Amino acid sequence: MNLQTIKDEYDTCKRCPELVECRTKVVFGDGKEDATVMIIGEAPGKQEDEQGKPFVGKSGQLLNEFLADIDLQREDVFITNTILCRPPDNRNPARSELSNCKTRLDNTIKAINPKVIVTLGNFATQYVLQTKVGITKLRGKVHLKDGRKIIPMQHPAVLLYHGNSPAKRKEFEDDFSQVREVLEDKEQKTLT
Ligand code: URA
Repeated sequence: MNLQTIKDEYDTCKRCPELVECRTKVVFGDGKEDATVMIIGEAPGKQEDEQGKPFVGKSGQLLNEFLADIDLQREDVFITNTILCRPPDNRNPARSELSNCKTRLDNTIKAINPKVIVTLGNFATQYVLQTKVGITKLRGKVHLKDGRKIIPMQHPAVLLYHGNSPAKRKEFEDDFSQVREVLEDKEQKTLT
């Protein structure tokens, strides 16, 4: 299935009644259709909902900075979320919503066929790795799943909560540098 077919199907999606009521736009995803690196966040926020693009708010600015640190631009990667529509008051995605959007995410991963998937935060990480283990235990390592390298990271919003603290920022920089190492096929000592 190609990306446009998936997008067309979900542009008018009505699977999650509460989200259909609240959303302005379906935030399908953005970036290169055959990207080597795919990034999966949690759910669109207010600005994403208004603009129909993922990670355009403050978390998105941080994401752009971390990508630039490893010589990647937004246009080089494909970015989407575990769910396509903004939950009211930015609440967590409900289990039913994650499940309603699962086939879409699976098909999107297959269509892009990335070598590396960066999962931001617990929802994306637990979904992709099919685990209940928390992000603090999973980050810092490269995981293998279905032949792809999965690099779990904290959600950039965490850095905003920590007032952009240098120690927290360093954790992100370290995790993003793993993406660069994987892209350069450097040996992964931490592969699990
Ligand atoms: N946070 C997310 O998880 N996704 C977005 O698209 C924006 C903020």
